[in-house]
Amino acid sequence: MNKYTADADGRVKGLKNVLVMKFGGTSMGSADRMRAAVDIIAQERERPVVVVVSAMSKITDLLLETLRHAEVSDRSAVDANLRTLLNRHIQTCNELLSEPASAARFRESAVNAVQSLVSEFHRIANGILMLGERPPRSVDEAIAIGERLSSTLLAHYLEACGIDARAVNGSEVIVTDAVFGNASPQMELTEKKCDDRLVPLLERGIVPVVTGFNGATADGRPTTLGRGGSDFSASILAAALNARELWIWTDVDGIMTADPRLVPDVAVLDELTYAEAAELAYNGAKVLHPRTLAPLVEKQIPVWSKNSFAPEKPGTRIVSHFDEPKGARAVTSMAKVALISMEPANAILSGTRMMARALDALALANVEILVFTSSSYRQSFCFLIRKRDVAAALEVLESNLSIELAHGYLKPIEVDENVGLLAVVGEGMRGTPGLAGRVFTAISREEVNIIAIAQGSSELTIGIIVRLDSLDRAVRAVHEECGLGKRAGSLANA
Ligand code: ADP
Ligand code: ASP
Ligand code: MG
Repeated sequence: MNKYTADADGRVKGLKNVLVMKFGGTSMGSADRMRAAVDIIAQERERPVVVVVSAMSKITDLLLETLRHAEVSDRSAVDANLRTLLNRHIQTCNELLSEPASAARFRESAVNAVQSLVSEFHRIANGILMLGERPPRSVDEAIAIGERLSSTLLAHYLEACGIDARAVNGSEVIVTDAVFGNASPQMELTEKKCDDRLVPLLERGIVPVVTGFNGATADGRPTTLGRGGSDFSASILAAALNARELWIWTDVDGIMTADPRLVPDVAVLDELTYAEAAELAYNGAKVLHPRTLAPLVEKQIPVWSKNSFAPEKPGTRIVSHFDEPKGARAVTSMAKVALISMEPANAILSGTRMMARALDALALANVEILVFTSSSYRQSFCFLIRKRDVAAALEVLESNLSIELAHGYLKPIEVDENVGLLAVVGEGMRGTPGLAGRVFTAISREEVNIIAIAQGSSELTIGIIVRLDSLDRAVRAVHEECGLGKRAGSLANA
C-alpha cells in the first residue's frame, strides 16, 4: 500500500515533499536527546521523512582511539574502551525502552543489536591488534559502527513510540569512490540504490533511519566521507531523492556570524546563499561539513540549520538567492593549517611551470589547497593546506621536484605550522569599496601581522593568514569592525 502519492514516472521524484532530517552527535547524545529527536520527527509525519543520524557524541573519537590502541597492541586500553562503548549504548537502551512495559520487547531486540555491533567492532579491532597496522578500509568499516549503533537505537525507539521505522546502513544506499576516509559519492549509482532501498520504505510510510558518515564502493567495500560527514550523507540522500527540503539539526540556533566558542556576541543568520554557506564551511565553520552544499545546488534543494534543543526557533535557511544585504556576513577561522612556501633560486626556472608541477603533484596526492598566493617578480608562491596533509604534501613535492631541489634551482621548501586562516565571507562584499581596507585596519589595530592575503575575483571571501597565537584576536576584531554581532543589529555593514 502506498502511503504517499506518486507521480506518473513512479520514481521517487513522484514521492513529493520528501523531507530529509539529519541529527548530529549532540542531538543523538543521550536518551533525552533521542526523545527530543523523535518528538521532532513525529511532528512531520504528514510527509515522507528520511532520518540521517550521526553517532552519539564523542563515539567516533572513542572508536578511532580504540583502533590506535589496537595498532600498538595496547589490549587493556582496547578492552576498557570497548566496555565504555557497550555501556553507553546499553544504558541509553535501558533509559529509552524500559517504560512502558510494552517497550520491553523493543529493548531486548535493541540490546541484542547493540551487543552484536559492539562484537563486530571488537572483531575488527582484534584484526588490527594482530596485524599491528590499521588498513584504511578496516578503519572505515569499524568507525561506521558508531552510526550503526545510534541508528539502531533511534529506529527501535521510534517503533516503540508507534512510528514505523527501519535502521538502514548508509553503505546500502550511498555509493562512493574508493578514497577511504574521505570518499566522494557516485550520484547515479546512489540514486538507483535509494530507489531500490529507501523508496519502498517511504511508500509504505516507514521512516528510514540511515547511518550518516558512511557509504560503500560499487563493489561493496566500506568507506567514510570524512569527519563530520553525516551532513554530507544527508545532502547526498536529499539530492538522490529529489527531496523538498533538508533540515540539519544541531546544537546551536543556526549558522552564526562567527564561531560562538570564539566570539561572545555572535548573531544567528536568517538566510545564506549556498555559495556563502559553502565558503563558511570550507573555511572552518564546523557547523556544516564543507561538502554538504555541493549535491544540492543544481536541484536547488533548500537547507535549514536548526537547533534540536530549541526546535521552535527558525534557524538559518540556505538557498540559491535572496535579497542579500551589503557587506560581510560572517567570519570564520581555521587553526590546524600549515603554510608551504616555494621559491625558484634561479631565474632560469619558470615560476609558472614550478607552480603547475607543484599543484599537479598535490592534486594527485589528494591534498586540498585552502589558499594560494603568488608574487610575480620573485616568482615565489605559497599555499595553505591542512596540517594533517603536510607529510603527504612534502613527500610528493620533494619527489616531483627532486632534481630542481638537488641542483639548487629551487630553494628548500619551507613549512610554517605556526599560522592560522581567517576568512571574511559575504556575497554582499562584491563591489563594496573600502571593506577590505577596514578589515586590514581592524587586524592591524590589534597589532596582528598579516602574513598573506587571498581574494578571488568573485569577491565572496577574503582569506587572511596570520600567526596562530593572534588568530582568535583577529577574528574578534574583524567581527566587530564588520558590525556583525548582536549588539550591532541594523548597523551591520553600514
Ligand atoms: P553536529 O554534531 O550537530 O554535527 P557540530 O559540532 O559538527 O554539530 O557543529 C556545531 C558546532 O559548530 C556548534 O556547536 C558551534 O560550536 C560550531 N560552530 C563553529 N562555527 C560556527 C558558526 N559560524 N555558526 C554556528 N556554529 C558554529
Ligand atoms: N560521527 C562522525 C564524526 O564524528 C560523522 C558526523 O558526526 O558527522 O566525524
Ligand atoms: Mg557536524
